[in-house]
Amino acid sequence: MWTDERVDQLKSLWTEGLSASQIARALGGVTRNAVIGKVHRLGLAGRAAPSRIDRPRLPSAPRLSYRIREPEPPVVEEEPVKLDDGSFVDVLTINDRMCRWPIGDPSADEFHFCGRNPKQGSPYCEAHARKAYQPQQVRDRRRMAS
Ligand SMILES: [Zn+2]
Repeated sequence: MWTDERVDQLKSLWTEGLSASQIARALGGVTRNAVIGKVHRLGLAGRAAPSRIDRPRLPSAPRLSYRIREPEPPVVEEEPVKLDDGSFVDVLTINDRMCRWPIGDPSADEFHFCGRNPKQGSPYCEAHARKAYQPQQVRDRRRMAS
């Protein structure tokens, strides 16, 4: 008969590292098998070995929940391309094979585009593509840090 009191006793004896037969003797009136069955029903079966009871296991290190990012290489901006006549690439001369990174004030005459070879799948050259996506990455980093 498992009264609450006897269950508590069983739990503490089990936690102390006593064997099932020792516990059965201590409680009296139960068999070793009954103790083992109760221990299993209480979910106590996976106790640490007695010699390790005074050394509780440290909680395992949390799995890395984020990817460690390589530090971004600094953006090296190349000089904008100049056309044969010495002018920069502007709205009239820009085409799909040129980086569309705007340089200068769009309302001013000197406004032009980078004009370098764009990265595959991007309207921008390597350096400008990186620059274009940087604000997003900075935001990601702040979110991870908080
Ligand atoms: Zn560019």
